Amino acid sequence: MLALSQLLDFVESVVPYVKENEYLTAMNLLKTLNDNKQTGETQTIIQIIEVMRTRIERDPIIQQHAKRVKMKVKAIAEHKTDGEKLAKGWECCGKCNRLVRDLRIHQFSDVCKRTNDTKKLSAISSSFKTDDKMILVLKIRAWACKNKWRGSHIVKYYA
Ligand SMILES: [Zn+2]
Repeated sequence: MLALSQLLDFVESVVPYVKENEYLTAMNLLKTLNDNKQTGETQTIIQIIEVMRTRIERDPIIQQHAKRVKMKVKAIAEHKTDGEKLAKGWECCGKCNRLVRDLRIHQFSDVCKRTNDTKKLSAISSSFKTDDKMILVLKIRAWACKNKWRGSHIVKYYA
């Protein structure tokens, strides 16, 4: 009954935006639903709608986009230059050379760890071109993860 009432409110709220015949059709459909509310057919329709709503809400892609909608959108003017970051007290990460606001949080990031790995590999191999060696390192890590030699917390990155 509440759903029908809310649906009626919705139809009333869109009256200025729909044609008269569309409004009449919607009202006739609502009347049909109201007349049939005692029957099992309406309950079945409501249950089907509820199942669909639950499935949609649980869909990982829907959940991902729902989270993205809540993210703050930065305008280009809000992005700080390196000079502005330094002036505001940002620090240069010793592991990856990025300017960051909070070193402790940043150094747990995947990008920091991977850049640090690349720096170490360049230093050891005395070369800037280390992609072929990094592929070997990543394959060894994936193998180690697969064989439980490394903690499960890094499996998502290397397995
Ligand atoms: Zn870093």
